[in-house]
Amino acid sequence: MNCYKLSFKSAQAHLFEIELTIQQPDPNGQVVYLPAWIRGSYMVRDFARNVITIEAISNGNPVIIDKVDKQTWQIAPVEGELRITYTVYAWELSVRAAHFDTTHAYFNGPCLFLGVKGQEENPCRLTIPRPNADSYREWRVAIAMPVEDIDVAGFGDYISDSYEALIDYPAEIGTFSMAEFEVKGRQHRIAVYGLHNADLTRFCKDLQLICSEEVDLFSELPINDYLFMLLVVGDGYGGLEHRNSTSLLVSRNDLPKGKHNKVSEDYRRLLALCSHEYFHLWHVKRITPEIFLQEGTEKEVHTRQLWIFEGIIPPITMS
Ligand SMILES: [Zn+2]
Repeated sequence: MNCYKLSFKSAQAHLFEIELTIQQPDPNGQVVYLPAWIRGSYMVRDFARNVITIEAISNGNPVIIDKVDKQTWQIAPVEGELRITYTVYAWELSVRAAHFDTTHAYFNGPCLFLGVKGQEENPCRLTIPRPNADSYREWRVAIAMPVEDIDVAGFGDYISDSYEALIDYPAEIGTFSMAEFEVKGRQHRIAVYGLHNADLTRFCKDLQLICSEEVDLFSELPINDYLFMLLVVGDGYGGLEHRNSTSLLVSRNDLPKGKHNKVSEDYRRLLALCSHEYFHLWHVKRITPEIFLQEGTEKEVHTRQLWIFEGIIPPITMS
């Protein structure tokens, strides 16, 4: 078990601190890395550029770390447990990045969580402790990661069965709105962060129709719960799919207003985005090229199938 503890080091400086405890590091010296890319967004990203400080200790003594390339660190051999503490600058409001300020925290795992070379199949624990300061009193956690032990606001311990899983659960932490609906008896949640005046009841009703159609198309629902995470901005549009959630960047005007029953072009655009990302639950996340299953995200993986990943978009039949 490798354990990652996330701390909200400085909202003003946009810094997360992560403490990674490796119980059985490689006796020849442990290699750790940040991914080169994030699944679903097919470009090499320099996530490691945002690592500001990094240090390691074992048995109370500092351990030498060498950065060997843009995203990889070699740590000197140690006996016993190894603890790596590092800070990450998070100031990019995008569905593939991490963002932390006084209003909220949002992250994707590849931005924050170091891979432990050779131990990618080990389970991981993610601990998100409740921050102490008064300003965080109303904050809650929205994440679709399996729960180990959390409080009512979602702070506490989460578990994933591998490193690949750990980095496939983005999180929104703050004072978001939350709504729920069911599809085939499974819970679906919507977390909406940012200023908005949306009719979430209507949004749930429409999303439920879309999701049900897609489940019927595939004749199965491979998850027990699903989370739509919306970052609401003045002008934005984009999404990224994950194993049982999606992150969406949406324009405030695209959200449904209660008093209009018609589906506006803006709202239709938002529903189409949700529909597209939900469709990825099967198409790409589970029906995927063999090479994507064989390879991690440490190095880029080439495929000629992007046209089918992103080219087939389910129609929406809203009126
Ligand atoms: Zn897509």
